[in-house]
This record gives sequence, C-alpha cells and structure tokens, in this order.
Amino acid sequence: MDEGWTLAETQRFNLFINGQETPAQAGETLDSFDPVTGAPWASIARARAADVDAAVIAASDALANPAWRDISASDRGALMRRVGDLILENAERLATLEVRDNGKLMAEMLGQLRYIPQYYYYYGGLADKVEGAVIPTEKTGMFVYTEHEPIGVVAAITPWNSPLLLTTWKLAPALAAGCTVVIKPSEHASTSMIEFAKLFTEAGFPPGVVNVLTGYGDEVGAPLVAHPKVNRVAFTGGEVGGKAVYKAAAERLKGVSLELGGKSPNIICADADIEQVVKGAVSGIFAATGQTCMAGSRVLVHESIHDAFVARLVDFIAEARVGDPTDPKTQIGPVATKDQLRKVLSYVDIATSEGAHLAFGGKQLTDIGTGNGWFVEPTVFTNVTNDMRVAQEEIFGPVLSVIKFSDDDEAIRIANDTPYGLAAAVWTNDVARAFKFTKALEAGTVWVNAYRVVSYTTPFGGFKNSGLGREGGQEMIKEYLQTKSVYVNLGKTTPNPFVLG
Ligand code: NAD
Repeated sequence: MDEGWTLAETQRFNLFINGQETPAQAGETLDSFDPVTGAPWASIARARAADVDAAVIAASDALANPAWRDISASDRGALMRRVGDLILENAERLATLEVRDNGKLMAEMLGQLRYIPQYYYYYGGLADKVEGAVIPTEKTGMFVYTEHEPIGVVAAITPWNSPLLLTTWKLAPALAAGCTVVIKPSEHASTSMIEFAKLFTEAGFPPGVVNVLTGYGDEVGAPLVAHPKVNRVAFTGGEVGGKAVYKAAAERLKGVSLELGGKSPNIICADADIEQVVKGAVSGIFAATGQTCMAGSRVLVHESIHDAFVARLVDFIAEARVGDPTDPKTQIGPVATKDQLRKVLSYVDIATSEGAHLAFGGKQLTDIGTGNGWFVEPTVFTNVTNDMRVAQEEIFGPVLSVIKFSDDDEAIRIANDTPYGLAAAVWTNDVARAFKFTKALEAGTVWVNAYRVVSYTTPFGGFKNSGLGREGGQEMIKEYLQTKSVYVNLGKTTPNPFVLG
C-alpha cells in the first residue's frame, strides 16, 4: 500500500530492461520539469539506439522463454488480474508522479489510475477466450484448423497527457495475447512508467515481457519502430510523429495503430438545456486544460441561444479555480510544457488577427505559486468561422472556439469540415435529431448529451487524420495476434506433387 507516500525533492529514474532498472548505456540523462514551478524535478535516463537494441532483444528473448511462451492463457489472465490489483494499491503513488510530470489535476490522474486496473481485469478475462476454429473444408482427407499466436514484440509509444492510461490501452491487450512489449513514454512524462513497469515483475511476469525506454522520439522512438525484431507498433501522439512512425513501419511491413489528434465539435442545438450544455462544453475543453486528444475545442451553437450560452459559459469559467493541480479545490491546472504555453499564447494572437473575438482569458497567469509555472487563463473565442486556423488546428490547450450555426445541416457541414475525426458530441432533447447527427458526424466516437466518456469495453480511435485502428473492446486482442491455418493430412498417401492440392 502507498499510504502516506511522498515524493523526494529530486529523483532519478532509470530504464527498465529485462526486469532490471538500468541507466542508459551512454550514461546520459534528461530533466523532467514540473509545470507548476517550471523547474526540473527529476532526472530521466536518456536512451539511444544501443539501449533500444538491448530492450528489444530482452523482449524477443522473453517471447521464447518457456516461463512466458508456455504459460497457459488462463494463468496469463491470472497474472494480469494480479497486476491490476497492484496498480490499484499503488494508484496514489503513480498518480502523484504523473501530476508532477504533466501538471494535470490529481483528481483526473488518480481517477485514471483507479480505472486502469479494469483494463487488466477485462483483457485478463479475455486471454483464455481466444479460440481457433476447425474448418470444414472440401478437402475430405484433411483436418483443417486455425489457431491464433502472439504477433511478437510490440512497441508502445505514448504521449505525455495520460501516460499510464494510454500505455494500458496497448499493453493490456498485447499481454493478454501473449506478446512482449517495449514501452516508449513521452520525454515530458516518463517517471510513472518506470514505477509502473516494476509492478509487472512484482505480479510475477517473467523478465523482458514489459520493458521501458525513456528518452526522445528521434533517439528512441524512431530506432524502436525500425528495429527488425519489433513486429507491431502502437502509437499515440501528434500527427507529425504519427506520420513518421507510419512511414518507418511501412518500410519494414509492420502493422501499426495510430491514435492521433483532433479538433472535435461539441454541437449545441437550440432545444438543449443551457445549464447542462455549459457544463458539457467546459468538460470538453477546460477539464484537462484542453490537453486531451478528444478535447471539444470547437463549440458549435445554434444562433438562437448563442448569446445566452456564451454569457453563461463566461460566467462559469470566470469562477473556475486555476492553480496547483494537487490542491483538491483546483479545477484547471497548468499546461504541461513551456512549448505548450508558447503555442497556446501564439494562437491567441493568431485568432485575434484572423478576426475572432476574445470573449474571455488569453493571458498567461504569473500570480500562481512561484510565478514561473505554465499557467494560462481558460480562453474563449467567439465570432469564429470554421476556416480560421483556431478552428482547424489542434492547439492542445484551454482554448475554445465558439461557432454559430443556423440549422442542423449547417452544423453537420461545419462539424465535419476539418482534417480530423476523433470525437464529436451533440446536445439535444430531440431523439430523431440526435440520431441524424450520430449518423452524419465523421468521428470515431460520438456522444449524445455527454462528453469525454470512454470505456475499456468500447473501441476508441479516429476517422480521417485522427488515426488508424481502434483501441478498447474485445476485438482489440486480435490486433496483437496472428492467425495460423493448419492442414493435417489424415490419409496415408502424399497428394500429387505437381498439382495444387
Ligand atoms: P508527440 O507526437 O510529440 O509524441 C508522442 C510520442 O511519440 C512521444 O513518446 C515521442 O517521443 C514519440 N515520437 C515523436 N516522434 C517520433 C518518431 N519519429 N518516431 C517514434 N516516436 C516518436 O505527441 P505529444 O505532444 O506527446 O502528445 C500530444 C498529441 O497526442 C496530440 O496531438 C494529441 O491529440 C495526441 N493524443 C492522441 C490520443 C488518442 O487517443 N487519439 C490520446 C492522447 C493524445
């Protein structure tokens, strides 16, 4: 149990390879920064190609280790349930590390950590329910069946906003399938991953089944994707990194899933209840300081309620407490990196110069804590048209664009008019209208009268530039399996060697 656990002021985190914590071979490190103070708080091992090779070989060797290769699927499921229990016991400790790295609210990260075990229970339960088939073919002398084998070594590459949750979306089905995994967390939020990986050893997973390489995308992520012994790549991150990973994997004919960004529309129809939809709009964009792939960063609101909605929204966020994410009273924390802060502030200038109206916020907040933290006001733009950059580009910060529409068809056209298609929501009390929207919206997930709901039971992923493939749900385990068809000749004679049998 982690009751009473506190962080040391500075900490050093190594790589985790073959069940051992180990420094990078070249002895290099990089700093992890606390977004609340803007100062470094931990030192992380900076891996390079030689460390990538060591981790992939450990994962490849673990595939052949009888302790993992020959374990029954039921026992693999039991190991997964055990690790789920350990994650729950260590939830507070792991969430504290995540908050220190990425500055998101403790309430949010602890909520995620307490939910993550469900993925291990769910996929652990599926491990022994993967069945092949006996196939009744026309080859009467043959017994034909299929079986599903682990695809091999999986590279799991993740961003900084929800490190352990997004890793789990890959790791839980991959382990249930019998694969081994090399995790590459974001250089901005790595510390929780090392502590997390150690729990797999504690649960009884053999060495090399779960490995972690910390460091930069070009120095670790790229050689990991390119490594000949990596069989599948699961990536969550931005479009630039996603395209680079896709190209590198194509070059080597590896399977890939890509969970990328979004510019998701949150559509408010004229009949919606303003009190409820203001909360829905806030949860879509400001709850995680806008640092969520599914951020509802465009609110599309019917012209008849536009002014009333904006007035209530501005009142609501004017009351929101921005501050230290570990304080339970805080509602909006800092953004995670200095670059993110600059990016968010740059979009304030871009939007203003494009003719949008700054209805609230737009400034850095320097009166919190040391004054050096990366805090920015929740920001609302009105008079936004969908062709503006602030409506088309992912900002990944607390910036909301409010766009007016006059009828359902116009709302659908605007909603779909971006390169992205990750998520969308519609707020209405009219069931027929709700179904019209759910059918027409180009998005991998659509909510009706809700926002930011996900479940381990349900696929999540993007249309268009928001990605390829899905994570979550029963089908996911098959992404980490490959099918083998076996023909057994029941006769005593070999078929004609010159004719396709
Ligand atoms: P990022 O693309 O900069 O980095 C993601 C990870 O990829 C990091 O670990 C990074 O080191 C690594 N990386 C970068 N370039 C690489 C390369 N060429 N080869 C291999 N690895 C490489 O993303 P970020 O800034 O950490 O995260 C924010 C982005 O992630 C946003 O665009 C957000 O929408 C997206 N995201 C998507 C989802 C989803 O489920 N769709 C969830 C969360 C975040």
